[in-house]
Amino acid sequence: MKRLFSFLLIPLIFCGCAKKNETRRFFALDTQITVTAPKDACEKTYELCRKYEKIFSRTDPESELYLINSGAKKTAGEDIRALLSLCEKMYNITGGAFDCTLGALSDLWNIKERTVPPTKEEIASALNKTGFDKISLSPLSLGGTQLDFGACAKGYIADKAADALYKSGVKKAILDLGGNVYVLGTARVGVRDPQSPDKLFCRFTLKDKSAVTSGSYQRFFEYGGVRYHHILDPKTGECAQSGGSVSSVTVISPSSAAADCLSTAIFVTGEKGLELCRAFPDTDALIITNKRTVLTTDGFKKKYSLEILD
Ligand code: AMP
Ligand code: MG
Repeated sequence: MKRLFSFLLIPLIFCGCAKKNETRRFFALDTQITVTAPKDACEKTYELCRKYEKIFSRTDPESELYLINSGAKKTAGEDIRALLSLCEKMYNITGGAFDCTLGALSDLWNIKERTVPPTKEEIASALNKTGFDKISLSPLSLGGTQLDFGACAKGYIADKAADALYKSGVKKAILDLGGNVYVLGTARVGVRDPQSPDKLFCRFTLKDKSAVTSGSYQRFFEYGGVRYHHILDPKTGECAQSGGSVSSVTVISPSSAAADCLSTAIFVTGEKGLELCRAFPDTDALIITNKRTVLTTDGFKKKYSLEILD
C-alpha cells in the first residue's frame, strides 16, 4: 500500500474576518501549496515559491541545488548558504538527528516509488555517502555527500514568504506549504489524526507563528506488514523508529525553518526530543504517540488553546 498525504496540518479558520482575502492553490516544491491572502499577496507568494523551487529543488537539473550536488557549481548563493548555516546548527543541537546530507539515502529509499525496502548492504553503502561532518562550508565541499533540504527548505521559504507579506502591510494571511503553515494574524489550525489522516486529531490557535508537522503517515509504503516512511535515522540509514513511540510531531515557532528542522529531528529522537525546543525562542512541540496519547512541552495547552478532538 502506498499513500501520500501532503497536508499534515490544516488551517481551519481565521479568527476575525478577512473579507478581502482569496485562496490560491498551486503545486510547487513537490507539494500542494495553499495561500489565503489578498490577491496581490497570493501572486507574490506564488512567484516567491517558483523562485525558491529553482534554488532548492533536488530533482530539477537546472536548480542551484542540483548543480551543486552534481559538482557543476562550486559556490553556493545566499539562500543555500543561509540554509546550510541553519542545518549546521541543527545538526549540532540535535546530535546528528537532523542531517541535510542524506541525499544518497533519500535516493535509495525513494519512498514515492519503492514497494520493497532496500537491502542492508545497499543501506550501508548509501550511509557511507552521508554525514554533515564530511562537508565543509567555506569553501563549500560536499565530501562525497548529497544535500537534501527536504526537511527544511519549505520552512525557510515559508519564513521568506511571511516576511514579504508583513513588509507589504498584510496582517491576515495563511500560507500552507504542504503542511508547513505560517499564520499572519490569528487562526485555528488542525493536526491530522496519524491513524486516520482524513480526520483531525487536535487543533490549536496560532498567532503570527508557524506550525510544522512531521509524521510517518505522510509518505510511506508497507511491505511484510511493516511501514517504511520518509523520515530517516541518520545513524542507521533506516526509517526512524522514534524510540518506537511517535506517530507525529508538530512544532510551533516564530521561525518556520526552525520548526521544520525540529519536527523532523524530534521525530527521529523520540519523546525526549521535546527538550530540543528549549534551544529556540518561543518554540513548542506536540507529539502524538502510537498509543494516541499527547505529549507536549510545558505550557503548550494554555498557550495555544489546545483542543483534543478524539
Ligand atoms: P519532514 O517531512 O520535514 O520531516 O522531512 C522529511 C524529508 O527530509 C525526507 O523526505 C527527506 O528528504 C529528508 N530527511 C529524512 N530524514 C531526515 C533527517 N533525519 N534529517 C534531515 N532530513 C531528513
Ligand atoms: Mg521538517
